[in-house]
Amino acid sequence: MTPLNANFAGLGTTIFTVMSALAVEHGAINLGQGFPDEDGPEAIRAAAARAVMDGPNQYPPMMGVPALRQAVADHDRRFYGLDWDWQTEVLVTSGATEALAAALFGLLSPGDEVVLFEPLYDSYLPIIRQAGAVPRIVRLSPPDWTLTAAALDQVFGPKTKLVLLNTPMNPTGKVFDPQELAALADRLCRWDALALCDEVYEHLVFAGQHHRPLASLPGLRARTVRVMSAGKTFSLTGWKVGYLAGPAGLVAPIAKAHQFLTFTTAPHLQVAVAAGLALRHAYDRGLDDDLAAKRDRLVAGLQRVGFETLPVDGSYFVTARIESLGRGLADDAFCRWLTTRIGVAAVPVSAFYDGPEPPRDLIRFCFCKRPDVLDGAIDRLERGLVVAA
Ligand code: PMP
Ligand code: GLN
Repeated sequence: MTPLNANFAGLGTTIFTVMSALAVEHGAINLGQGFPDEDGPEAIRAAAARAVMDGPNQYPPMMGVPALRQAVADHDRRFYGLDWDWQTEVLVTSGATEALAAALFGLLSPGDEVVLFEPLYDSYLPIIRQAGAVPRIVRLSPPDWTLTAAALDQVFGPKTKLVLLNTPMNPTGKVFDPQELAALADRLCRWDALALCDEVYEHLVFAGQHHRPLASLPGLRARTVRVMSAGKTFSLTGWKVGYLAGPAGLVAPIAKAHQFLTFTTAPHLQVAVAAGLALRHAYDRGLDDDLAAKRDRLVAGLQRVGFETLPVDGSYFVTARIESLGRGLADDAFCRWLTTRIGVAAVPVSAFYDGPEPPRDLIRFCFCKRPDVLDGAIDRLERGLVVAA
């Protein structure tokens, strides 16, 4: 047989799938893969059910159902004062994953350099490499994961085509602050580069912090594409409805890639998400406050058990140091042990690194779970880690 695609054939299965399968196999409480255990608003699910029965059930337009594209444009105007033309500057995709892939394929050429920040979400690099582009990775350090101007100056250069920024950030829960965004904006303009912003957790930012789209900074609208996910915004992760917004000149080639990746996305779900975006109360402070209470509950429990937790300002996730409880195990071995022996699944943070010698003392817990599930997990940890110690 001729050799297979070296990029994909050499990859493992994503850590989220691996840990969820292990959790199912061992009956563990799954705080690994990021998904809520309560489905999002009934009104949105009812709208989808109605649309399955009454239609539309045939191919929607390639760019997305007009009502959803209009709702996304309205959303961005209302929240961030960003003005997009819904017909040419908004594209509906099959989840943020597809939006990111379409954007990378649509915007990159072989040899282009892409600046990324480590730890990074696992879908980015395989697509960047498949596009023939070259990653230039800035490694951020715990506990604050601060991005400095000096670090940016080491990776930006004449070949920099694009920066991929994820804020709020998975797995760290970091929200990039105005100073960090300004430093990045400055380099983007100076080197005439593009930004692809993975902002799927935009509505999962806790009190005291604000989500600021890079696109809303002066001069950045023309060079920035913003990626969002209805799965995150409405606690419906399995729906895989995403969307992106950006200037028409960038969205056009991205739509060309999209038309050959998926072409379109289930129309009933699009119609229902459009209705959901109009229900501002369904995803504004209500979701943040509920999630903040869950974060506090899990963090307090983890600390009681003896974990040192790192600060978290947004997303579904909290990271914890395992040094004191880790039994000398590296993060991946510890997560396996925790899942199979203690009955609580978590994700090793080293899975979010590409470069050599990733940190081995951090694991990620997902807190978007019912309070009784979080308590059950803490109970297991307490019995397994503290009592057995
Ligand atoms: N980006 C980040 C940072 C994520 O955590 C996720 C996972 N949900 C995605 C993109 C993918 O989102 P979607 O499920 O909408 O494809
Ligand atoms: N984004 C989710 C996480 O970080 C997982 C999504 C997936 O399994 N592909 O856990």
